[in-house]
Amino acid sequence: MLPCARVRIAIVGAGFSGLGMAIRLKQAGIEDFLVLEREPDVGGTWWVNTYPGCQCDIPSHLYSFSFAPNPNWSRTYSHQQEIQNYLRDCSRRYQVESKIAFGSEVSAAAWSDESSLWELETSQGSLQADILIVGAGALAVPASPGIDGLHDFAGSAFHSARWNHDVDLTGKRVAVIGTGASSVQLVPKIQPKVAALYLFQRTAPWVLPRTDRPITGAERRLYRRVPLAQKLVRAAVYANFESRAVAMTVDTRLLKGYQALARWHMRRQVRDPRLRARLEPSYLIGCKRMLLSNDYYPALTRPTVELVTDRIEKITPRGIATADGHERELDAIVFATGFEVPDYPALHFVRGRDGATLAEAWRERGAQAFLGTTVSRFPNLFILLGPGTGLGHNSVVYMIESQIGYVLDCLRTMNARRISTVEVRGEAQAAYDADIQSRLARTVWASGCASWYLHPSGRNPTLWPSFTFRYRWQMRRFDPGPYNLHAGSPRDPAFVPGRGGLDVVV
Ligand code: NAP
Repeated sequence: MLPCARVRIAIVGAGFSGLGMAIRLKQAGIEDFLVLEREPDVGGTWWVNTYPGCQCDIPSHLYSFSFAPNPNWSRTYSHQQEIQNYLRDCSRRYQVESKIAFGSEVSAAAWSDESSLWELETSQGSLQADILIVGAGALAVPASPGIDGLHDFAGSAFHSARWNHDVDLTGKRVAVIGTGASSVQLVPKIQPKVAALYLFQRTAPWVLPRTDRPITGAERRLYRRVPLAQKLVRAAVYANFESRAVAMTVDTRLLKGYQALARWHMRRQVRDPRLRARLEPSYLIGCKRMLLSNDYYPALTRPTVELVTDRIEKITPRGIATADGHERELDAIVFATGFEVPDYPALHFVRGRDGATLAEAWRERGAQAFLGTTVSRFPNLFILLGPGTGLGHNSVVYMIESQIGYVLDCLRTMNARRISTVEVRGEAQAAYDADIQSRLARTVWASGCASWYLHPSGRNPTLWPSFTFRYRWQMRRFDPGPYNLHAGSPRDPAFVPGRGGLDVVV
């Protein structure tokens, strides 16, 4: 059972977004909120993804909350378990754990004009909320590869995001389908233990070297004693990753430099020119996510590994048959085939004032939201990491914190002006979206590759097209101008106007 039937603020998800929002609300003196989390622990994607080698490709000093530095990171790029531990520690340190209803899966969240409330249905009961904040990420539903015979296979088969730890791959013949961010991490980890590894590559990815190393005890002591030192490292990492936006969004000709680095990396690690030719990507680097790995290419050179580039025709009871008539016999298949991004659950359970779900509202052209956060016809709804806030070059935690600052400033404004409902106007949302789309058209993501960033119409409803500090600047305060505001009495009078949203540092 949920601990209450009515709250001012309901937050969906206890990953970086929902947890960060909860902590900042608590720090702002707002207690009347509840986080709904379907899993039994915090972490979101960092709880769910447990595949071997699961690691973040953004350095830990940056991929963490600005207000909760962790001087004890063990590596420059943290593994899944350490990130999940960090988030659990944050939930305890900032005392929001008791505000999270674990095992509560939201099945419906409908706005009621009559009550001016969000009416939620969860696996643990019903809940009413004045404000709904969705922090349920888009990379949640494993994508089925849509291959014939998928269910005929007699061996073990599972998705990278639903790793089956009961299956011991030691000495087995294993296929991995897909060569994206998850695959390049798990392939080098399972390769040494399997008898044979068949890697099915549809599109060769660009792979750059990774500057991953253990953080020494001396460095950790320094960060504990001199927090400013860690802040400076964080700022340097931020600046380094942010500089990639120049090539990706301003002058894509500069990406040739990254391509040269990636080719040098491949030449150094793959001696066989025929294998190199098959690993050569055919699109502009950065159009799909740039991958970082020092052990992916070496794994592919091992005698037990075969890179298969022939089209998969079907999955058979014994293995995988390719278009060249070859059937490879297998004991297990790992689908590293990504996620159903245009179809994540929140799109289907959030219903606005017309009774339409987000999925229905966005059906034709893909997702759009004002400032990537608020949606016309969906009053008092805030989406963290919403449309147009994803990144191809830097840490999304920075974007999440930008949005959290904006939401807090909106709540302050609502309380100060006795506003019960905010709803962005359709024309403001459309104008914002048109501006974002025109800027996206000049970026690397519009250079012609197929990626999960794009809607079938070719529109990019996923990514922010510029420098992240520009996003932070536009989110620095809540401007009520583009919103329809309805007077009423907010339920949290203790929360008084304070400073604007720009109160989080890099
Ligand atoms: P992904 O990037 O979408 O890659 C999916 C792979 O599966 C692609 O290589 C795709 O080929 C292939 N594929 C899909 N359907 C197929 C089919 N029917 N036949 C053959 N191949 C097929 O998925 P992901 O690797 O799970 O990564 C998704 C996102 O998660 C990333 O972009 C990133 O944002 C996030 N992620 C982040 C990290 C991190 O370190 N922070 C780690 C893992 C994931 P095509 O390229 O031809 O479509």
